[in-house]
Amino acid sequence: MSVTYKGVHQLKIGEIDLQILNDGHWRLDGGAMFGVVPRVLWEKRLPPDDRNRVPMALRCLLIRVGGKTIVVDTGVGDKFGPKEAEIYAVERAEGLIGQLAGYGVAPEAVDVVVNTHLHFDHAGGNTTRRLGTLAPTFPNAEYWIQRLEWEDATHPNERTRTSYLAENLDPISQTGQLRLFDGSTEIVPGVTWRLAPGHTRSHTCVVIESGEQSAIFTVDVCPFVAQLERIAWVPAVDVEPLVSMETKRRLVADILAHDRLVIFDHDPNVVAARLVGTPDKWALKPEILTIVGAASTGDLRADSRSIVGG
Ligand SMILES: [Zn+2]
Repeated sequence: MSVTYKGVHQLKIGEIDLQILNDGHWRLDGGAMFGVVPRVLWEKRLPPDDRNRVPMALRCLLIRVGGKTIVVDTGVGDKFGPKEAEIYAVERAEGLIGQLAGYGVAPEAVDVVVNTHLHFDHAGGNTTRRLGTLAPTFPNAEYWIQRLEWEDATHPNERTRTSYLAENLDPISQTGQLRLFDGSTEIVPGVTWRLAPGHTRSHTCVVIESGEQSAIFTVDVCPFVAQLERIAWVPAVDVEPLVSMETKRRLVADILAHDRLVIFDHDPNVVAARLVGTPDKWALKPEILTIVGAASTGDLRADSRSIVGG
């Protein structure tokens, strides 16, 4: 059953208010994002710039139900200096905080922040600098994090330490706002935090369902549309790529079985799409597209246009 669109980004999933937000845009090496897939194949889908970087969104969710205000992921945040901003071509307009304000949500009003995992492009807005000191961006929120992800993030190795930054983590544990969980967990009725490992050992997705309607934030199981079309298209940055493939296979079957609206975190063109077909052969139909060249808020509903997967 289709989702009710209250506005371009404002969705209603049964009783649940869902807004798709975007902290901004950035770029990452195309090889890092497409793994073993040759550039001649992926560059047709996502043309890189002259430094081989592909464009990426930084989507986050605002979920409001039963008097609770929940933010899922916090984008790259505002702490990068000029050097990192240049390396990653970070472009932020109003950012996550400005977009929340647009929906009447002050940082103080957020009850729960859920981090799907702790890479800096998902947890960068967890903290901010106030009067020169690092502090949690959401002063009254609990920060919900998987215990294993916290362990991996706070004990990074040579390969993972550029993704896990202590400045996004330490302040929330120091203030006592950190809550650690093991595995799939109900956040509030209708909103489930689901383990989807591979990108990291305890990477998660978020499923939102109410009445007959359902959506899923698939996060880095498939950062781009092309990666939901093909099981083998797994980012090089995934720590367990074979596990990523099995997670994706299970997810495709689950999405088809429940007709979930799929919300993409990094695809610069497609915000949300549906799958049609079977777990052996499926196609992807975009439902919400971004306007090319528009500001970070400039998303609009798509005409239905099929992309064949398999
Ligand atoms: Zn990411």
